Amino acid sequence: MSGMQKKTDVILIGAGVMSATLGSLLKELAPEWEIKVFEKLANAGEESTNEWNNAGTGHAALCELNYTSEKADGSIDIRKAVNINEQFQLSRQFWSFLVSSNLIRNPQDFIKPIPHMSLVTGDENVSFLKKRFKALSDVPLFQGMEFSDDPEKLKEWIPLIMEGRTLNEPIAATKVDSGTDVNFGALTRMLFDHLKSKNVEIYYKHKIKDIKRTSDGSWEVKVQNLDNGKIEYHTAKFVFIGGGGGSLPLLQRTGIPESKHIGGFPVSGLFMVCKNPAVVAQHHAKVYGKAKIGAPPMSVPHLDTRYIGNQKALLFGPFAGFSPKFLKTGSNLDLICSVKPNNLCTMLAAGAKEMALTKYLIQQVMLSNEKRLEELREFIPNAKIEDWEIVVAGQRVQVIKDTEAGKGALQFGTEVVSAADGSVAALLGASPGASTAVNVMLKVLEKCFPQHMKEWEPKIKEMIPSYGVSLAENPELFQEIHASTTQTLGLGQKEPLHR
Ligand SMILES: Cc1cc2nc3c(=O)[nH]c(=O)nc-3n(C[C@H](O)[C@H](O)[C@H](O)COP(=O)(O)OP(=O)(O)OC[C@H]3O[C@@H](n4cnc5c(N)ncnc54)[C@H](O)[C@@H]3O)c2cc1C
Repeated sequence: MSGMQKKTDVILIGAGVMSATLGSLLKELAPEWEIKVFEKLANAGEESTNEWNNAGTGHAALCELNYTSEKADGSIDIRKAVNINEQFQLSRQFWSFLVSSNLIRNPQDFIKPIPHMSLVTGDENVSFLKKRFKALSDVPLFQGMEFSDDPEKLKEWIPLIMEGRTLNEPIAATKVDSGTDVNFGALTRMLFDHLKSKNVEIYYKHKIKDIKRTSDGSWEVKVQNLDNGKIEYHTAKFVFIGGGGGSLPLLQRTGIPESKHIGGFPVSGLFMVCKNPAVVAQHHAKVYGKAKIGAPPMSVPHLDTRYIGNQKALLFGPFAGFSPKFLKTGSNLDLICSVKPNNLCTMLAAGAKEMALTKYLIQQVMLSNEKRLEELREFIPNAKIEDWEIVVAGQRVQVIKDTEAGKGALQFGTEVVSAADGSVAALLGASPGASTAVNVMLKVLEKCFPQHMKEWEPKIKEMIPSYGVSLAENPELFQEIHASTTQTLGLGQKEPLHR
């Protein structure tokens, strides 16, 4: 232990959307607690949370077909879609609370309304979409969803996608106007500005090198100041590891039993981006297709209108790929260094099971720009290569763990891993991601501070009125909350499509 220890109540590692959300919740629930944040980069929200590193979809299962599956009897299982939508409603409520309390301002700088659409071709897929539409239409959370298999209607909804299309097979789409585009980078920067104004100490260019338990049960973090190379030590009663892809190695440093037998598999991503105003003006939606057979769920192709800064752009992708780095700014040694004696068997089992995924990712890495253009043309038949540039997206580290299904199962969701006494917690995985940050951070609070939850509940309910309540089962409460969050977040105004 160091003699230069600096004590605090809470340490948040990483300045992404997850730490920003947890810090903002804690500042409301326990304003007297001292919080310190350590981030290795020069600014907040620069890794996966950055607006160019993710697709900015407010995931509410309005358009993502992988959240609804077809059961053996042909009916559609919508439980996951309902669950994800409920989670997004928690985020909307917390963001609205922050705006209406003047803790953050100008919601239009981080969230904009944009129709969310699903688009499929072929008899089987059209029949699936129709059944999905019928199943979701019965749930109030999906109100306003429209279905069409009429090419004339689709030309109105998605002219850029329909222009030049050969209609030799059935085509259909659903559309929900209440979808959103979220600039998670902008939101995160706003949240850190707010935290700074509440005396949270934020240290940029400070990298956490180690985490150790102290004799009184607190945690000591070893921090390197990247400007001068000096090492500092800070202790806290509670540490949240919100290092994104960098969380797994830090969790492993804690040595807690819960950190064992867990591995990570990095998946990189590329997007194609179009900034040509003449093309951008012809599309106004996030349009999600169906994943190709063998493709992992995070590589569902989609064509999105994005609002970044004051500019509107189109984003197509993601093209998945393999890189051994756990962060975009990580090291090529990340994957190999994460293999420990306790997770070797888990990792090997996953390697043997996931050959198809590995093959898929390698094929994706090898894709030429011409091949990527071919995939883009499945969405925009008349796409021109000169209108599109490639941007490298963030890294996603998928969790590998032993489950009832067997050793080394690859997980596509997020996992909160915490010590039995709740003194340290890490967030692993990246899906559905930033959209559900509020729900995930509420789970962190429930796991790590059970002794405070009763005292905190009234404040949580003031900030997030549907906390602990199913909105799907309380349509009136949903209507009320949806209307008020739509107003506070300025999501009521529709932007017309210019052609
Ligand atoms: C291609 C792609 C598309 C996506 N699309 C969507 C989408 O449409 N909608 C959605 O909701 N989500 C999406 N996501 C997921 C979403 O981006 C992530 O879930 C979210 O940004 C994760 O936030 P975070 O705070 O956990 O991690 P990050 O934003 O990665 O932040 C972690 C921070 O920790 C810092 N850090 C790491 N290690 C250390 C260390 N040792 N010391 C100090 N600092 C450290 C990093 O520098 C980084 O700033 C997407 C992700 C990807 C990659």
